Formats: sequence, structure tokens, C-alpha cells
Amino acid sequence: MVGAGVIGLTTAVVLAERGYPVELVSAGRGRATASHAAAALIGPAVPLFGEQMLAWAETGIREFSKLARDGGRGVRLQDGRLVTATTDETPEWAYRIPGYGPCSPEERAGFPVAFWAELPIVDMLPYLDYLEQRLRLAGGTVTERTVTDLRDGWPPETVVVNSAGAAAGKFAADDQLTPVYGLSVIVPNPGLDTFFYEAAASEWVSWFCHGDRLSLGGDALLQPPADPEAAAAEIIARCAAVEPRLQGLEPLEIRVGARPMRETARLEWDAASPAPLLHHYGHGSVGVTTSWGAAFDAADLIEEELPGR
Ligand SMILES: Cc1cc2nc3c(=O)[nH]c(=O)nc-3n(C[C@H](O)[C@H](O)[C@H](O)COP(=O)(O)OP(=O)(O)OC[C@H]3O[C@@H](n4cnc5c(N)ncnc54)[C@H](O)[C@@H]3O)c2cc1C
Repeated sequence: MVGAGVIGLTTAVVLAERGYPVELVSAGRGRATASHAAAALIGPAVPLFGEQMLAWAETGIREFSKLARDGGRGVRLQDGRLVTATTDETPEWAYRIPGYGPCSPEERAGFPVAFWAELPIVDMLPYLDYLEQRLRLAGGTVTERTVTDLRDGWPPETVVVNSAGAAAGKFAADDQLTPVYGLSVIVPNPGLDTFFYEAAASEWVSWFCHGDRLSLGGDALLQPPADPEAAAAEIIARCAAVEPRLQGLEPLEIRVGARPMRETARLEWDAASPAPLLHHYGHGSVGVTTSWGAAFDAADLIEEELPGR
């Protein structure tokens, strides 16, 4: 498994817990991944990315809700508002969301579509650590190393999985994959206990509660931010326009990550590789949400390739 982001780690956990010997190698872990910068809402806002990702998102809501109830580290269920100004009509899927409820006029904060939901929220650094420990407990290993040739160093009867996130394209001759940068601005929590998420294309308002801290977000940039402090100040100001208690907060930390953006995620064997090489990347802005569903499907494909373990 190449890559210790949420995609590589979750898939490694599923395979190791099914009894496969798993060796995970990664250039970086924890703070060196895009995954650490995720907010992270386990959300349903994925109809745009196609049927497969919608199904993975449904699996994600189910699996993360279970983890929240079973004390999975960093995962909690939270009430919050989902809003948008991009349409006047509440989408049909909204009514099926766990905890759906209409917002009062004050709660709408000026948005034409606004409703309550109860969804899992993930504090990514403890969660990535939890996944790594779960992998080791199931017998997997984790090594820090930059890979230059995906098939080099492993015997032909092994499967190699390319989960290198925004860097995966260079191993796959894939010009569809584009890094889309974003910030999570970590601030002290002034007493909020519900999340807020605006669905919008390039700039939006969002905050998520992680105990005594909040993560604020709301940008999608084609280049890494030249001035992260200025970008963070803009995010705080946009959020404070909706929630005055966020006014004037100073960041405790600014996290920057590259979303591995593609029309839809890629999960397929490399037809040109002489030994089994599975491409498993491109989960864009919903990689945490889709991680369990995608991991189960990837593990099923690998099980077909390596039966009888
Ligand atoms: C600001 C922000 C907010 C987000 N919010 C959400 C959210 O609320 N909900 C949600 O579902 N998603 C969210 N996302 C999207 C989500 O974070 C990504 O889709 C997901 O993290 C991608 O995971 P990954 O494992 O594919 O990539 P990564 O986390 O980037 O992991 C890739 C791994 O590959 C390794 N690697 C790269 N090149 C090599 C190499 N040559 N050799 C060895 N290893 C290599 C890297 O070191 C890294 O460990 C957000 C993203 C950002 C940036």
C-alpha cells in the first residue's frame, strides 16, 4: 500500500483485518498528508461525483456513525446546519439525511436552503493515528519512504496499491488528477456545539466543533495559498459574518492540504503493468466520507486477485 492518507490507511486496515499481510509505505504520515487538513464532515454532498461515490458516502455515514458510538478516536456525531445559496429548493435527498429537520427563519442565516442534520465529524490527526494503530494491531507494518517506481522492490505475486493522493497521477499517466488546495483554520471554540456547512463552488462558510477547538474552512484554490495567514483571516471573517462569536479569533494552527480532484475517483487495475497494480485515488473533496466504502470495494478487488488467504 503506497500512501498513509485516509484512503491508503483505511484500505490497509480492511485488508489486514481480512488476514492479508500488509506493508504500508509512505513519504509522509499525519501532518504530511492532505487528509490531516480535512474538516472533516462525513457528508452527503457527493451527488456531483457519480453513483459509486454516492454509495461509498452512504457506507461512510454508516461506518463513521458506528465508530462514533463505539468510541473510535476522533469521531463524534454532531448536529449541524447544511445550507446553500446555489438553489431555492431543498434537494430530495435531504429528507433522508439522519436527523433531518427544517431551520427556523433565524437559523437559516439568510440562506434559501437550510436544514438540520446529525452527521459524523472527524478530528483527523487523532483519527489517522487510530487507523495506524488499528493497522499495526492487525499485523500490518508502516514505513516512511518515498517510492519512485511503484512495482520496484516487491515480488510479482504481491499486489501494489497506488493511494498516493494528489501525487498518484504521476504513477498512472493520469492528466485528469488536479490538486485543489484548501485550508482548515483551527481556532479556540468560543462555545459552539453545532456545525455549519455551506455547499458552494469556490468560497464558502463552514465550521466543525472538536471539543475546545473549531476547524473553520471554505476555499478551493488551484495553487497553494501564497499567504496562508491572509487566507485564514478571510475564512474567519466569512464565518464571523454568519456567527458573530467567531469575530476576531486568532488561528491556533493553519492546515493546508491538496484535495486529489478528479471527475470521479479511480479504482481500477493498471492494464499496462506486468504485475498487479491497483490505482486507488482521486477522492477529491470527499475522501474521508468515501474512505470506508472505497476501501471495502478495493479490498474485494484484491481478494479476487489473491484468493484463498
Ligand atoms: C481543507 C480540506 C478540507 C477537507 N474537508 C473534507 C471533509 O470535510 N470531508 C471529506 O470527506 N473530505 C474532506 N477533504 C478531502 C480529503 O481530505 C481528501 O479527499 C483525502 O484526504 C484524500 O486522501 P488520500 O489518502 O487520497 O490523500 P493524502 O491524504 O494526501 O495521502 C496521500 C499519501 O501518499 C503519500 N505519498 C505521496 N507520494 C508518495 C510517494 N512518491 N511515495 C510514497 N508515498 C507517497 C503521502 O505522503 C500521503 O501519505 C478535505 C480536504 C481539504 C484539503
